[in-house]
Amino acid sequence: MSLGGKIALVTGASRGIGRSIAIELAKRGANVIVNYKKDQEGAEKTIELINENGGRGFLYKGDVSSYSFCKNMIEDIIKRFSKLDILVNNAGISKVGLFMDLTEEEFDEIMNVNFKGVFNCCHAVVEHMISRKQGTIVNISSIWGNAGASCEVIYSASKGAVNSFTKALAKELAPSGIRVNAVSPGVIDTQMNKCFSIEEKEALIEEIPMMRMGQGEDIGEVVGFLCDESSRYITGQIITVDGGFL
Ligand code: NAP
Repeated sequence: MSLGGKIALVTGASRGIGRSIAIELAKRGANVIVNYKKDQEGAEKTIELINENGGRGFLYKGDVSSYSFCKNMIEDIIKRFSKLDILVNNAGISKVGLFMDLTEEEFDEIMNVNFKGVFNCCHAVVEHMISRKQGTIVNISSIWGNAGASCEVIYSASKGAVNSFTKALAKELAPSGIRVNAVSPGVIDTQMNKCFSIEEKEALIEEIPMMRMGQGEDIGEVVGFLCDESSRYITGQIITVDGGFL
């Protein structure tokens, strides 16, 4: 129970990678606040799984791309639980298509969820973490933020922004006892990849040296490690978890 007594917020935890992270933090003893935007049923399922895995789960519905929502959510959490130890910025969206087919509205939507959402939650929690001289932030990036992907230009750019944000904030906050890292997943078997056909998925798998798509748990366990004491000297890192893809 390396995270016993800790309070964690995982954004976008109604399914997929966010749900796996929430379960992993619960297994390590944390109480986990599950943020989501729409999928009430999925979020309730995540709470059920958190409770089955030794933690306690709480729901918090809302859109991370809204600055005022994130500020209110984090203020409420701190009021209710007296603290927030762990922030995992996982909520994200992707759009696959040619760069020239992408609209200005789609650009705004991707950047506002994937990058501004990370800014919003960090901006709301950092003062609190500094006052306690402790805290851990983990941002979920993507290998496309490291390498760039054809037909995912703005998604790649949003995750590239998350990577440099992570490195810079880590340097600024390290003297205050706060660690900031990112996990950069490869192709993970979640609803985000439901746009690909079976044939397209098979073609992707052929490019992965470990010959399989990742599972949410592959990411959850790395995030768990980054949140607990075993990683106390690690900050400002982008940890790639991709079965050797890149
Ligand atoms: P997913 O299955 O589509 O889940 C996305 C989660 O984000 C859902 O819980 C969704 O909740 C939530 N969400 C979306 N927009 C939101 C918003 N504006 N405010 C709050 N919550 C929001 O995707 P996933 O594969 O688990 O992806 C999780 C993270 O991993 C993302 O940041 C993604 O970019 C990253 N990633 C995924 C892969 C992959 O291959 N799957 C690879 C690299 C990186 P609602 O449905 O309730 O809105």
